[in-house]
Amino acid sequence: MSGRDTGSSLAGVTTSDTADLQSRLQRTVEAVGASGLDGLLVSPGPDLRYLTGYDAIPLERLTCLVVPASGPVRIVVPALEVAAAMASPIADLGVEVVSWQETQDPYVLTGSLLPGAQRVAVDDHMWAVKVLALRDAMPTALQSPAGPVLQELRMRKSAVEVDSLLRAGEAIDAVHAQVAGFLRTGRTEREVGADIADAILAAGHERVDFVIVASGPNGASPHHELSDRILQAGDTVVVDIGGTMPDGYCSDSTRMYSLGEPPSAVRAEFEALREAQALAVAAVRPGVSCESIDAVARDHLATAGLAEFFIHRTGHGIGLETHEEPYIIEGNSRLLEPGMAFSIEPGVYRAGSHGARIEDIVVCTEDGFVTCNNRPHGLVVVE
Ligand code: ZN
Ligand code: ZN
Ligand code: ZN
Repeated sequence: MSGRDTGSSLAGVTTSDTADLQSRLQRTVEAVGASGLDGLLVSPGPDLRYLTGYDAIPLERLTCLVVPASGPVRIVVPALEVAAAMASPIADLGVEVVSWQETQDPYVLTGSLLPGAQRVAVDDHMWAVKVLALRDAMPTALQSPAGPVLQELRMRKSAVEVDSLLRAGEAIDAVHAQVAGFLRTGRTEREVGADIADAILAAGHERVDFVIVASGPNGASPHHELSDRILQAGDTVVVDIGGTMPDGYCSDSTRMYSLGEPPSAVRAEFEALREAQALAVAAVRPGVSCESIDAVARDHLATAGLAEFFIHRTGHGIGLETHEEPYIIEGNSRLLEPGMAFSIEPGVYRAGSHGARIEDIVVCTEDGFVTCNNRPHGLVVVE
């Protein structure tokens, strides 16, 4: 493998990504040993993709990466999936493929790869039916969730991953650049949402993850998605959108729109929110705690008398999943480190009236931060 200067494409990832995957797998083997586990069991999902680049379809048939504390890393794969597995970076990573035939018991096979194991960790998203079958097949092994081991790796993004998040941010910014053109009085949230979904795909995402068009009173519900409500003059509109790029990394950004200039009280509230969001972003640097970033946004809204209307945490980590560690929330004393990527998205929610939120994805760097989202933050007034 010739390293980061080559860009040749292999099943959607570049060869520089393969070097990155190699190092993730190596660090995972070390972490498994250091945590006193005999092995880590990872089924299809974001953890498997993080460790191997293999975007396996989650099916009832067992596919399971087996990372032992020592010895070879192997993956149990149904015979009919072997070609797909070999087309992924797995072939270049030296992961040994152990295939099983339709009538074989894949759980017994998996257990045989960690003989006599006392402690195994299973990935956080593994289906209960698989967890329980592994329990039966490995009766001496105490199971625990793999999250505590894997999140320590996944929350510190490599340069390759930061680059992916920057490209996801550019793609969703390109969608926000078009949103004002979709918003018109007389259209429904659902009609606007359909245009946005098309634009998310056209901007380079592989999948639309969510489209929130929360107009007027619907804005007061943070996770409102789309309804048949007809947009009216004077509505403020929360537009929070995100998708997944072909390499698996997610975008997520919120901007505020208004059909005509809103009442001055709403405008003043919005400006306080804009300041709170900007102050929280500017506070990001290594060594600062997650909860102190939350406090920056919350304290600023409190000085504007809006504390009681900010009803959720300030942000969530993002990467191969839209919501992952680290969470920017009171009580999380974890200190930020270079490579940590998360949203800064304070909001103000006035039940029965309206809501507002502004959201950027931010990455902590050696001496501060970079933002993945770079659209202007001001209220976009559509006439
Ligand atoms: Zn959310
Ligand atoms: Zn978010
Ligand atoms: Zn969002």
